[in-house]
Amino acid sequence: MLLIDCPYCGKRPELEFSYGGQAHLARPSRPSELDDQAWAEFLYMRTNTKGVYAERWRHARGCGRFFNALRDTTTDHFLAFYKTGETRPTCPAAAAVTGAAPSGLAGERTP
Ligand SMILES: [Zn+2]
Repeated sequence: MLLIDCPYCGKRPELEFSYGGQAHLARPSRPSELDDQAWAEFLYMRTNTKGVYAERWRHARGCGRFFNALRDTTTDHFLAFYKTGETRPTCPAAAAVTGAAPSGLAGERTP
């Protein structure tokens, strides 16, 4: 089972969490001024990263709070968890390539 490290509650089973999509999206300040194409791109277009990806998660069956995580999409390993509003942490590129997680930052799997 995948364990996700909620920044507020600690490690919990993945079943308690909901995926929230790409992190660090900035909502347009005046959406009514966008044309249909620009609005559709904001609503639906997301990056499709192979490697380290910043994503939003919600501890839906716990504290209910949103937070961000860095996950390597090639290995499905989490590299870091951080609160919404905090700066995206830097992580070694080697961790993204090998799937080796930096100590103390990553989610882990248990048998
Ligand atoms: Zn929580």
